[in-house]
Amino acid sequence: MLSCRCLNVKFNIGFLRDISEAELSLINSEVRAHFDDHNIKVLLEDTQNVMDGAQVSVVSLVQKRCVNDWTFYHCFNCKVFTHASYAKNYLVVVNYGGMIGLEEQKMLFADPNYFDLYGIVLKHRQKTDEQLKSLKPSVVAALHNIQDTVSDFIKYEEKQMEQRITEYTALQRAAFDDLNVKVLGQRKMLEQLVCAAYWDTNEDADSAFERSVEEISSLVSGSAAKGMN
Ligand SMILES: [Zn+2]
Repeated sequence: MLSCRCLNVKFNIGFLRDISEAELSLINSEVRAHFDDHNIKVLLEDTQNVMDGAQVSVVSLVQKRCVNDWTFYHCFNCKVFTHASYAKNYLVVVNYGGMIGLEEQKMLFADPNYFDLYGIVLKHRQKTDEQLKSLKPSVVAALHNIQDTVSDFIKYEEKQMEQRITEYTALQRAAFDDLNVKVLGQRKMLEQLVCAAYWDTNEDADSAFERSVEEISSLVSGSAAKGMN
């Protein structure tokens, strides 16, 4: 997969082929100025609709400019000129040399401005009130769409988080209950062992046990009195 430098516009390499000399001759000087001639690829015929061949995350960030029979596309976010289409024979040429491959794309995933929801790296840009006031309805609609998408995503993630907390609480409660049962059982076993040890070392088991209880009681009251001082 090839992409622009913010991952907004992508091309499947399997949909690209080398450009022919005849096709190259159709590219006028203005188009050529944007490309490295040796790094131009052509989108295959079965993907003539440029938006089929290009995978675009945020269409509103792709700028189109028409010059004669050519339409240029560039990613406004990262400023990369991605491709151009020729109206006369539906030729779509891709700026292969200006795009990045998998290795560079992987590094972008770690960028602090990588926006998971849209899968692009956002570039900072200063906005002014004047620019916001002059937005066209289509741009306002795009902004509402982004707002709705983000809002839905946050609501979904909040529910997922609550679910994870519920599951974690249940797991912790079950582990605690298991521990409680285990410790109570071990306490009982230990008490039985302590009693058995007393009985085993005293011929008169009953009196030995009673004496030990008396001794323990006196020790406990003694330490309790110490603790109060
Ligand atoms: Zn881009």
